[in-house]
Amino acid sequence: MSKSETIKVAFRLRPLNSTEKQDGRKVCCVVHEDEGVIEMQYGDSSKRFTFDSVFSASSSQRRIYDVTTAPLVQSVLEGFNGTVFAYGQTGAGKTHTMEGSIIPTTFEHIFDHIALNSAKDRYLVHASFFEIYNEEIRDLLTAGKSQQNSLELRESTDAGVYVQGLTSTVVKSASEIDAVLQNGNKNRSVGSTLMNSQSSRSHSIFSIVVECCSTDEHNNEHIRVGKLNLVDLAGSERQSKTGATGERLKEATKINLSLSALGNVISALVDGKAKHIPYRDSKLTRILQDSLGGNTKTVMLANAGPADCNADESLSTLRYANRAK
Ligand code: ADP
Ligand code: MG
Repeated sequence: MSKSETIKVAFRLRPLNSTEKQDGRKVCCVVHEDEGVIEMQYGDSSKRFTFDSVFSASSSQRRIYDVTTAPLVQSVLEGFNGTVFAYGQTGAGKTHTMEGSIIPTTFEHIFDHIALNSAKDRYLVHASFFEIYNEEIRDLLTAGKSQQNSLELRESTDAGVYVQGLTSTVVKSASEIDAVLQNGNKNRSVGSTLMNSQSSRSHSIFSIVVECCSTDEHNNEHIRVGKLNLVDLAGSERQSKTGATGERLKEATKINLSLSALGNVISALVDGKAKHIPYRDSKLTRILQDSLGGNTKTVMLANAGPADCNADESLSTLRYANRAK
């Protein structure tokens, strides 16, 4: 696969919210959907950023899935790995995009495909759900005490990098896998910052492994295994703006570190000439190593708000996403 096919970057701008409207905030970012451009205005000048696809407030959740993620899920069903990231500051629309569009439509897509092909192929689907919080890995599918313990990363020649002891649940339908998601969401770390009381300070990773066993005309069995990671990243806002101190500041530092490690890995992959891909610089990039680069597909969904009061953060999201093309 060529570089342009393996890593795609989409940018979604949410509408002004009611508080921003009440406060008389002005829109400083506009979407030119047909050109694939986001235009950022400041003062008398403006700067344009081009992406593989861009979405305005009027884009439907379905369209975002169809354009950005459907081809990636299709390749997972064919036995390749892939990763979808939602990036952006807290309140930018990451969870709205992941849980309102990407995740539920992926569930339907996978099980509709299985239903269509079950006469000739046998499928096995497993799901895991975990978060990385302060560079510690926490299983979201084990309620209670064991959830407090952080899990370790291990590496073996057979399995590559894996999370030791992570729960993996076999699911047989879209509603079963949705129940796994809901169950895990109850166990997420939520901390409050000045920006958003529901702010998520952890990266959440929902992983789906699809195994397919087909039999050819000579009665030989072929097994294909594809893995998909759906990642709702922690808020990318800079610490100064969130007013964080103490524990919150420590979290923010870890978040910045892992987001910049991810940016460095993606830009090294996009560059294509880099000899060294710095996967080892964060837990996030180590875990996703087998699903980033090589024979895999990656989608970066960058999210931002249009209000002038978020201009600095939106510009930093535009720059981050721009590095990934
Ligand atoms: P994040 O996960 O990035 O912190 P959320 O997805 O929770 O942000 O979005 C913050 C708020 O804005 C939520 O109330 C969400 O419903 C709303 N929102 C986000 N994106 C959109 C959008 N494209 N259209 C309408 N409302 C949105
Ligand atoms: Mg969120």
